[in-house]
This record gives sequence, structure tokens and C-alpha cells, in this order.
Amino acid sequence: ERAPVVTIDGPSGAGKGTISQLLAERLGWKLLDSGAIYRVLALAAIHHNVELDNEDSLTLLAAHLDVQFITGNGSKGIKVVLEGEDVSNDIRSQECSNAASKVAAFPRVREALLRRQRAFSEAPGLIADGRDMGTVVFSKAPVKLYLTASAEERAQRRYNQLQDKGFDVNIDQLLTEIKERDDRDMNRSVAPLVPAEDALVIDTSEIGIEEVLNIALAHIETNL
Ligand code: C5P
Repeated sequence: ERAPVVTIDGPSGAGKGTISQLLAERLGWKLLDSGAIYRVLALAAIHHNVELDNEDSLTLLAAHLDVQFITGNGSKGIKVVLEGEDVSNDIRSQECSNAASKVAAFPRVREALLRRQRAFSEAPGLIADGRDMGTVVFSKAPVKLYLTASAEERAQRRYNQLQDKGFDVNIDQLLTEIKERDDRDMNRSVAPLVPAEDALVIDTSEIGIEEVLNIALAHIETNL
């Protein structure tokens, strides 16, 4: 008997991370932050001087990636340890965001990371957060959600987050980067960002976290 999986896909800044974490807490389920895997691969590539356009080397690196994801850190989310070093903050940099979406475009890199992602599926259940959770990695999942929001709203949220952390950022540049990343994620040849046919699409532009959470919980309850 396999554990149930709820997939949560969508573009960056749509609120997937927050909602996934809250759902995992409420249900007492495991959490897979698949974006963190692409981010940590990008960081490993930068550390080891692997070119971000070298699919062969990136695939090899992906297959041997020495990374641990440690959950149960409360509101701080998942702790990510690369080759023994805590890189939880480093992988959230703008440089890593952009590098992650570049390495994620390579088919063999994605393939090399499939098994690692599927291994997160454990009892009593898994919340899987990413771009292709419902379309590729857990295509048979009983419940699929797709969170989206306008690029402007997502840039504004990211801006607020970074300001809170004390970073001085330019909102127009954030919007440009979000659009570039969307474009790369939606138009790549493998596992492009698209809602699964059986996904419930939630536009979070005009609704708050609490409401999104309630919609998600109700959908899970009726479909599980
Ligand atoms: O979700 P997050 O912003 O952390 O993801 C970083 C990048 O990793 C995305 O822009 C995307 O290119 C890639 N990604 C992916 N497939 C996933 C999760 C993330 O291609 N399932």
C-alpha cells in the first residue's frame, strides 16, 4: 500500500511553499520541496565549477549529489545540507533561483533526480511542491493542486519578503526575473510548467493564505 500524495505545482511566488508547509503541518504528512533539489544542484555546480550549460557534467553531479533534507524545524522550513554544510539560506539567493531554472531545463538532469524525489513518498502521506509534481513525478497522485497568481502580484510578494529580510531590491528587476523564469519553466521541452489535467487551479492573486488553505483542505478531504 503506497502513501497518498497531494501535488502542488505552479510558478514561483504563487504561495506553494507556504501552503505546502501549512498542509504538511495540519495533516502531519511529509513534505517534498522539489525546487530545493534543483537549487542545491545549481549551488553544487557553482561550488564545483561545473558549467551551467554542460548537461553531461550536471547529470553526473545530480546522480551523486550528497544532500540531506531535514524537516521539523518549525516555521523555518526545511534545512538543506550539501556535502555536510548547511546551505538553507544560500540556495534562496537570486543567483541560485536563476541557476536552478537553467539546470532544471535539461532532460537527463531531471531524469537523474526522479528517484530521489519519489523516495519522499512515505506514510502517512506526502505534500509534493514543485513544477511537475502532478504531471510527471507523481502523475498518479489522487489530489492535485495548481497555484497561480499574476506576475505583478508575485513580484510584489517577493519584494515584501526580501525587504523584511533587510535586502534592498528593485521591484522592476524582480518582475523581469520572475517573467524570465516563468518563460524558461513554461517553455522547456521536458516537464514544462503546466497544470495537470486533473488539477484544481487556484488563483491566489486576490485571496489570502487562510482562504487558499481552506480550499486546499476541502479539496483534499473530498478527493482522498
Ligand atoms: O520552486 P523553486 O522556486 O524553489 O524552484 C526553483 C527552480 O527549480 C524553478 O524555477 C524551476 O526551474 C525548477 N524546478 C523544476 N521542477 C520542480 C521544481 C523546481 O524544474 N519540480
